[in-house]
Order: sequence, then structure tokens, then C-alpha cells
Amino acid sequence: MKPSPDRPELLPELVEVAPGVHAYIQPDGSWMINNTGVVVGSDDTLLLVDTTSTEARNRALLALVASASSAAPSYVINTHHHGDHTFGNWLMPPSTVIVGHEVCREEVLAAGLLAAQVLTGPDYGHIKVRPPSLTYSTSLTLHLGTRVVELHHPGPAHTRGDTVVWLPAERVLFTGDLVFAGGQPFLAEGSIQGYLSALSCSALSTVSFKPTSAAAQFSS
Ligand SMILES: [Zn+2]
Repeated sequence: MKPSPDRPELLPELVEVAPGVHAYIQPDGSWMINNTGVVVGSDDTLLLVDTTSTEARNRALLALVASASSAAPSYVINTHHHGDHTFGNWLMPPSTVIVGHEVCREEVLAAGLLAAQVLTGPDYGHIKVRPPSLTYSTSLTLHLGTRVVELHHPGPAHTRGDTVVWLPAERVLFTGDLVFAGGQPFLAEGSIQGYLSALSCSALSTVSFKPTSAAAQFSS
């Protein structure tokens, strides 16, 4: 199955999982076709969880995000360094702060655009490397007005620089590639032991999944 921009019947959609909190879902979720998150603060601050892989897909993401918020993104959180989550960083305005774990930044810079040379299926268009400019080591909390957005590093799991994004009031968790709907974990650059530990970390162990791929909304 081909990626959505090439198949009109497979258009991405923005699904509101809590007021002002959206999952951007791209069919069909195969290689280099990820889901992302869109969070609008009480003060209208706009935060994105990840970008996507190709120029066309990132422009489609921004076009649909504009239907949820007229603001420019203040923050983009990179859940890890893989190109389907970071290749759109460069399309964000210079004022957008790209946030990621300190190892994520290292890995974005080390990997460069290699993934586009290895996974040659999509037409990537114009892409450039733009690493996180704000990094953290253990956890970081952002306040979008009264809306709280927590970033936690669960340790090496899918990659060495993973971040999960937790909205405690809304009980919404953006897991990056720690969780695939209907797919097995991908750990080629991560850690099996770390992955098991990540699933046991507090944010993941106190909730039960109602997966929507990009965002999972939870009940205790
Ligand atoms: Zn990944």
C-alpha cells in the first residue's frame, strides 16, 4: 500500500483525543509513515509531537494543523531521532523550539539524512537536518498556559534517546515508536531489556491502553 499523499483515498486525519489534543494519523502506518501529535495550550501555544518523513507529508501535516490552530508551532518534541519523526523539523519557523532528549540530538546529527538513502521508497522532496536545540536528560515539563506537558526519558528502548510525552490532566500519552498498533516492537537501535523497563515505567504501568497509534488515551 502506498503512502497517503500519493493515494487520495488514504488522506491523513486529525483526531481530537481530548479537548485541544489531537492525533495526526497517516494511513497506512508502514515504513516512514508515522503518526504525530498536536497540542494546543490554554494560551493558544501550539506544540507538535514529532514531524514526519517527506517534504510533502510535512507540508500536509502543517496544512491540517492549521485547521486546529492559527498559531505557529512554539515547540516540536522529537520522540526520537528517526527520520520519519524529525525530517520535518527544518520546515518549522526559526522561532520554533525543537525539543528532544540529549541523546536524540546526538543521534539526529550522527544519522543525518542516511535513512532517506536506505529507505528509498518515498519521494523525500527537499529535506534538511535540524536537530533539537533544547535538550534534557531525565524529564522536562512545559506549561502551555494551564496545560501541562511532561517529557520523560524512559531509558534506551526503541532508540537510546526516546521521549514519551505525557499530559497528566488529560491522561494522554504520546509514545513515539515505543508502541505500534498491530505491529511488533522495533528495537534494532534500542534495547530489549530497556524496552521492557520502559513499559514498566510509571507513565506506562499505571494506565491501560485505548490505542489510537500516535496517541493513547488512558483510564487507570
Ligand atoms: Zn522510530
